[in-house]
Amino acid sequence: SQDDRISRIASTIRVIPDFPKPGVMFQDITTMLLDPKAFKDTIDLFVERYKGKDISVVAGVEARGFIFGPPIALAIGAKFVPMRKPGKLPGEVISEEYSLEYGTDKMEMHVGAVEAGERAIVIDDLIATGGTLCAAIKLLERVGVQVVECACLIELPELKGRERLCDNPLFVLIKSA
Ligand code: AMP
Repeated sequence: SQDDRISRIASTIRVIPDFPKPGVMFQDITTMLLDPKAFKDTIDLFVERYKGKDISVVAGVEARGFIFGPPIALAIGAKFVPMRKPGKLPGEVISEEYSLEYGTDKMEMHVGAVEAGERAIVIDDLIATGGTLCAAIKLLERVGVQVVECACLIELPELKGRERLCDNPLFVLIKSA
């Protein structure tokens, strides 16, 4: 069943306390990638949700959105669009600044990667405060793309990132304390 697959996936994710700094419980998805069944089930669960929904864009957030986005895009017949840290994309970009715990960061997307009217999902491994996904949504909406849903493997509900996404739907496989 779907629940069996999700609990198996959850069991393959390693939690490393105090990385990259004290107090952070780092959710390490690289251990899940070592388990081909868990990795395939993860991709399948997203594909089952988005197949046939007329989605033409899978936008993946650097860096771990680059692991999950492309296989989903291929399976549903959508394009993959990388949303990158500043200075990485070689072509003309639009960028969106967002706040971190200390200071700000920026996310960039290539001009011309998407067209107004397209339907997109945004994918990342994890939502914490929601700042990252919020910036990705803004970039896509600025060029007239409809963000159908954001999708993550893991949500940290205590950080209330879902609220920061306003009314944009969020789908997650695993909620973690
Ligand atoms: P946020 O913008 O606060 O929602 O943070 C989400 C981004 O930071 C994602 O790209 C995650 O990969 C990363 N991240 C934040 N907190 C964690 C955590 N506890 N474990 C793993 N990755 C995290």
